[in-house]
Amino acid sequence: MAVIEKGWLGGGNTARNTTIVRSNYLWDEAAALFEHSMKLWEGLTQELNYNVMFSQRGVLNLGHTLQDMRDIQRRVNANRLNGIDGEVLDTRGVQDLEPLLDCSSRARFPIMGASWQARGGVARHDAVAWGFARGADAHGVDILQQTEVTGLMIRDGQIYGVQTNHGDIEAKTVGCVVAGNSGVLANMAGLKLPVESHPLQALVSEPLKPVVNTVVMSNHVHGYVSQSDKGDLVIGAGIDGYTGYGQRGSYPVIEHTLQAIVEMFPAFSRVRMNRQWGGIVDTTPDASPIISKTKVKGLYFNCGWGTGGFKATPGSAHVFAASLAKREMHPLAAPFSIERFHTGALVDEHGAAAVAH
Ligand SMILES: Cc1cc2nc3c(=O)[nH]c(=O)nc-3n(C[C@H](O)[C@H](O)[C@H](O)COP(=O)(O)OP(=O)(O)OC[C@H]3O[C@@H](n4cnc5c(N)ncnc54)[C@H](O)[C@@H]3O)c2cc1C
Repeated sequence: MAVIEKGWLGGGNTARNTTIVRSNYLWDEAAALFEHSMKLWEGLTQELNYNVMFSQRGVLNLGHTLQDMRDIQRRVNANRLNGIDGEVLDTRGVQDLEPLLDCSSRARFPIMGASWQARGGVARHDAVAWGFARGADAHGVDILQQTEVTGLMIRDGQIYGVQTNHGDIEAKTVGCVVAGNSGVLANMAGLKLPVESHPLQALVSEPLKPVVNTVVMSNHVHGYVSQSDKGDLVIGAGIDGYTGYGQRGSYPVIEHTLQAIVEMFPAFSRVRMNRQWGGIVDTTPDASPIISKTKVKGLYFNCGWGTGGFKATPGSAHVFAASLAKREMHPLAAPFSIERFHTGALVDEHGAAAVAH
């Protein structure tokens, strides 16, 4: 068994992401998958014997309008029916958790309340990549870095291997987990995925003393922020509007994002930004992933995680590995088949995904 990586471990979105972990998705199918992940996160450091620095500091999704609050109420009700923790907070409840957040009526988009998932939080992205790699290596998996898949070897509708820049590798089962490059690999098999690749950016500030206690997200003003253990503000926003494979984005998105952050936290207006970067995210029409067989026997895709796949890492990996091993989709993965774009059984999570990873 081998993992083939064209760059280095974590060089894709995994170590470029802002590491928000939560499971408060609206629909049963998504909630089940992300909650499965959340439960695995809760034991991951012990399981991998590698500190992934999972910090359950809680996640706030702010509401700024009556309709936001109705949507929040609906999502929290759905979450609780699915056994997922969630609360609806009023403005006071939000202010108690985040004293620096502008919860006054003077704000341009006054905060009316929030959904609160106390078990949500953040983790250390590269530690997650390294912890899984070490675990896989201990189980005998070969990890081939600097090895690019350049072609898929298919005969009579069955995959029998991959071509790489270091030669061919035979395999009867191939799982493609290449995020923004999914369309490129699908093309090698003559398949077309309903996936668009967009740049998604993030930035970090100079280190500050502890000032943000939770993860604060707002779909409405379109930005989110948490604080790393080192003290940096970790800031992100939505995707750049155009498609592309460049691991960088455009300046207007950075400007818009920082406007949103200062809108929420006026106290950050003089904070200097240290670094900015981008990844390539694979977005689908219903903002849910694709975990699926294809019409080529033995060829599977796990993609379409868009702006929010880091939180799914343990669960996504588990259900995908189980599906490949049994050649039958795991029940938690089954609703995310590519077939849903033909049958119309979409899992539309735009409301719960959006900017708010
Ligand atoms: C700025 C940013 C912020 C984000 N914030 C969050 C967040 O807060 N919370 C959250 O849950 N998610 C977030 N995400 C999304 C999350 O990072 C991704 O959904 C997730 O990491 C995808 O993991 P992956 O393993 O599928 O893809 P990746 O980590 O991108 O790995 C795919 C790998 O495939 C390799 N590859 C591509 N083509 C080939 C080839 N031909 N041959 C061999 N290898 C190849 C790439 O080099 C890459 O390393 C964010 C993403 C970005 C960019």
